[in-house]
Amino acid sequence: MTEFGKQLRQCISCRKQKERQILIRVVRGPQGSVSVDLSGKEQGRGAYLCRDAACVLTAIKSRKLQKVLKTVVSGEVEERIREVVNGQDSSI
Ligand SMILES: [Zn+2]
Repeated sequence: MTEFGKQLRQCISCRKQKERQILIRVVRGPQGSVSVDLSGKEQGRGAYLCRDAACVLTAIKSRKLQKVLKTVVSGEVEERIREVVNGQDSSI
């Protein structure tokens, strides 16, 4: 499993390539529900974002998440992403 250590992913907001561990993964699961995937192991279509408030805000405002995930992203999910970025989540 150590091979997965250095995979690069592109932030959907600023388009910079970064290691996937330092990005936030937002995933649309098989049932179509969107959630923030802190484990990085959830199945489904994923979108990556920097842990950067400006980057997240840009993605939310321009509805990039909706475009990349091809589904509706609720305000609840957007709020959750912002919490993670702002470090209110102690699990990271
Ligand atoms: Zn970014």
